[in-house]
Order: sequence, then structure tokens, then C-alpha cells
Amino acid sequence: MAHEAQGPATGPQKLVIRNIGLLLSGAIENPILDADTVVAENGRITAIGRAKDVDQEHATLVIDARGTALAPGLIDSHVHPVAGDWTPRQNQLGWIDSNLNGGVTTMISAGEVHTPGRPRDVVGLKALAISAQRQFANFRPSGVKVHAGAPCIEPEMTEQDFKDLADAGVTLLGEVGLGGVKDGPTAKRMVAWARKYGIQSTIHTGGPSIPGSGLIDKDVVLEADTDVVGHINGGHTALPDSQIRCICEGCKRGLEIVHNGNERAALFALRTAREMGELHRVILGTDAPAGSGVQPLGIARMVSMLSSLGELPAELAICLATGNTARMRKLDCGLIEAGRAADFVFMDTAQHSAGENLLHAIALGDLPGIGMVVIDGQVKCQRSRNTPPATRIPVII
Ligand SMILES: [Zn+2]
Repeated sequence: MAHEAQGPATGPQKLVIRNIGLLLSGAIENPILDADTVVAENGRITAIGRAKDVDQEHATLVIDARGTALAPGLIDSHVHPVAGDWTPRQNQLGWIDSNLNGGVTTMISAGEVHTPGRPRDVVGLKALAISAQRQFANFRPSGVKVHAGAPCIEPEMTEQDFKDLADAGVTLLGEVGLGGVKDGPTAKRMVAWARKYGIQSTIHTGGPSIPGSGLIDKDVVLEADTDVVGHINGGHTALPDSQIRCICEGCKRGLEIVHNGNERAALFALRTAREMGELHRVILGTDAPAGSGVQPLGIARMVSMLSSLGELPAELAICLATGNTARMRKLDCGLIEAGRAADFVFMDTAQHSAGENLLHAIALGDLPGIGMVVIDGQVKCQRSRNTPPATRIPVII
């Protein structure tokens, strides 16, 4: 397990990626780009185009994609980290490193709820959130960017508490409903305070996840008006289809589908959003670690599941795990676009897939084979130890 501090290595760096067979942009309005070369300088994408049109001089790192597909690094919109690469929830080490091998380069905390002895008093929960934000900002397990420090709100909190959190660098709320606030009016008031100070919010949608947590139904979800409707397909117990439809139609917020939820409800939510012409609102998470364990391939599995059973073209399904989430979460990654972070996953058809190419294989429900993962222009893993083997893999020249 490799661990490192934040930030790229020193000195000017120029990454050139050549011979890209398929360039997946992450942008749902234009998911496939007509280009075979991507250049990144000092961790940021600077050029995208055909090899002859792009300045490849003075590269410090050249990767020959060998005809494989390049996509933005996958984003997990819903994780529950605790400390570095350890989770007490299933007492597992190295779960984030395993997710890197599943193509995930960025994770968003929905609350550090599995912290042993988690404080629920206001001073304590604020301190925990600020500490978690600092820890994961200072330390990226295996290079993965974990946005953490997401407090679970309690009824005693005042507007000043939200201002204090924002002033201290906290930018996220944990799932509303995991703390003591479970009613619409209180949630609405606190979510509005959070938004006023630039803190993004999400909510636990559906039945209780473990003994001790509670039901959050459509009325509470719509009244709370969080920026993201967390696990609209339940975590794990889903609301009735009629309530899922009400939520999709009753707000304009992000619709998050998670791996550790109800898969039938996931497909229902996807179909509803598509019928509404609002696929751009759909984002993906794992909701791991959880009672269901951790899923190193959770985001890739969601892409294949929604593409195959949900009959969503694979290039669009990948956008739900990249560009959609980046836009919804205001991240600087997730799209192959000049100025964005150089976070990439190289994929190819898994060996012996019945699919004729990567996109066809995903549409048939197979997982992609991951051949390399790059974060901020630096190679973090080569052939994935977790996915089925990719037919072709990129090479460092
Ligand atoms: Zn939840």
C-alpha cells in the first residue's frame, strides 16, 4: 500500500498520452471526443486533439495508450471514511487503495459516521468534522482525493455553528438523518444555513440503514431541499416507486444512486430521470464502507449495471460517474477539458468478454478492464489488481 502527502512532485512536469483509441469526455452532452492525444502540464489538462496538432515537445512522461480508452478518473459521490485507509465498519485496511484499482480517483464523504465513539454534542461534532477535513486534505491514501469533514447535524446547532464550520474549511454536510435531525422543518432550516455559508448538503433517503438510524421519506427529502438527494435508491431499503418519482419530479437537486442500495429502485430512478430528460442530475456513489462491506469495483459495477439493465449507452453511463458528479459537486476533475485536473483511468475490453469493444462489453454488463490510473498527471497504478484483465494496457515510454 503506497501512501503519500498531497501535491504533485516538484519541478515542471509535462505528460503526453498518445494513441488513445477512444476518448470519453465525461460530459453527458458530448460523451465521445474526436481526439487521440491528451497533454497535461503540472497536473492540469492543457491540450486535447489529434497527435499532429498538439505540442508534444519537452514531455517529462509519455504514455502510449496502445488503442485503449481514456476517461476521467471515476468519482465516488458517497463514501464513509474514518481515518486514512482504515475503516472500522468492517475493520478493513487498504479499502481506498483497492478503490484506486477500481478506477476511483476522487471520493466525497457523506459523513465520518463510523468513527468509534463519534461525538454527538455540538462542539465535539464540529471538532470531528474539522479534524477529518484536515486529515484527508493533508493525506491522500494511495493518491486518491478524499473530500471529507462532513458533520452529521444535531437539533441543538445554531446558524453560528454553520458559519464556524465554513470558516474552518468545512465544505460538506454528512447525510441529514444520520444525526439527530430527522424532521423536515429542522432539516430545511439547517440546510439553508449550510448553503448560505457555502456548505454542500446531502440526505439519507429511505429506510434505516442499520439499527439506530431512521426513515427519511419523500416529504422530509423535499422539505429539507439538500443539494444532493443521497441514495435515492435507498441505503439499503428504498422508498416506494411513487415516492422516488415524487422526489425526481419535485426538485431540481442531484439524484444520487448508490451501489449499496436497492438495485431495482436504482433502475427505476434512472428511467424516471431519463424520461424527464434530466440525466445530468444523476450521480453515482457506493455508500461504502457499510454493512454491505466495501466495493473496490462499486462504481465500475454501477456503470455496467445501469448500462446493461438500464439500457443506457455505456459512454453516457460513464458520465454519471465522472462529469455529472464533478459539476454537481463543483470539483475541478471529472471532465476531459483544458484546465481540469489530469485524473484519468485507462480502460479496455476485459479479456474474453463477449463485447466487440469496450462500450459494447459494458452494455452487455461486463466490467471494463482497467490498465492504468493517473492522478494529477502522475501514474498511481498500472494493470488493476481488481478488475478482470484488460485486453490491451497502456505503457509508459
Ligand atoms: Zn445513508
